[in-house]
Amino acid sequence: MISLVVPAFNEEENLPVLVHRLIAVMKRYESYEILIIDDGSSDQTRHVLRELSKEYPVVRFISFSRNFGHQMALRAGYDNARGDAVICLDADLQHPPELIPTLIAKWREGYEVVYTVRAPDPKLSLFKRATSKYFYRLLRSASNLAIEDGAADFRLLDRKVVDTIKQFKENDLFLRGAISWVGFRQCRVLYEPAARYAGRSKYSFRKMLKLAAMGITSFSTRPLYLSVLLGFCMSFFALLFGAEATYEYFFTNATVSGWTTLVVLMVLIGGVQFIMIGIIGVYLGKTFVEVKGRPAYIIGDTSEIEETVTSWQA
Ligand code: UDP
Ligand code: MG
Repeated sequence: MISLVVPAFNEEENLPVLVHRLIAVMKRYESYEILIIDDGSSDQTRHVLRELSKEYPVVRFISFSRNFGHQMALRAGYDNARGDAVICLDADLQHPPELIPTLIAKWREGYEVVYTVRAPDPKLSLFKRATSKYFYRLLRSASNLAIEDGAADFRLLDRKVVDTIKQFKENDLFLRGAISWVGFRQCRVLYEPAARYAGRSKYSFRKMLKLAAMGITSFSTRPLYLSVLLGFCMSFFALLFGAEATYEYFFTNATVSGWTTLVVLMVLIGGVQFIMIGIIGVYLGKTFVEVKGRPAYIIGDTSEIEETVTSWQA
């Protein structure tokens, strides 16, 4: 069985068209479901979903009590999908449903994660392209993840991977990072994005910033080391400056009495403080990583037992 998961936030005009196109593509498969997550829409999305699910038994839906965001909608999708493979795609038809058979074919070849990468699209606004490019660049340099440019949330996951992701306890789960982090046999598919079918983008600039901050902070504690580094730089310059002030004190008449001590103390304390804050930060970072309670390792395949075994940290 194959599950299609669609997060939808105020997508009343897109959903009927999407469902028709999905059904047209999925006809050839024996068993599938379309699970739509209404992320607290304020338009007629919920009503449209009720009608659609009455008309087509393959359509299921879940409505959030308020807007929890795209990532949470996807998570609810993974938590509630019943399929052996779960495919997520946007409600606005930017992710072409016609690509689904390709994803399924790759899955049948044995890949457990089939992710898609958006081909560079000149139709996309300069702003979207630039923010997306710098987001991925920053993410790669701040964390150890190898996430490709334009690898969004259009992907197929095998049941094994979905069950692993479901066990992540952290509230702020950045799915793109988590899926890259869990490993398994991964495979990429390139696609040409279509234009949004109806309505405007539901990703405001604020939501984009929030996603970027979450992506970086939940997969990296590297920024904390910045403070330590800065502290060492400041202390080094404090030593140089202190030497210079001491030289001036002994060999010139340019100093006011007491100035040298003040200057040396000030810069030195500044530097030492940065180092100490950084060290506290690093420990805090370690606590943060432990508190998330992620599995220490994940088994992809084994000859031992049938069930996938996962070991948990504390
Ligand atoms: N979306 C959501 N909750 C939100 C924002 C967006 O569920 O708070 C859904 C939206 O309905 C769409 C998908 O996430 O199906 C991608 O959003 P959108 O197409 O607006 O983003 P863009 O393609 O402009 O980056
Ligand atoms: Mg879109």
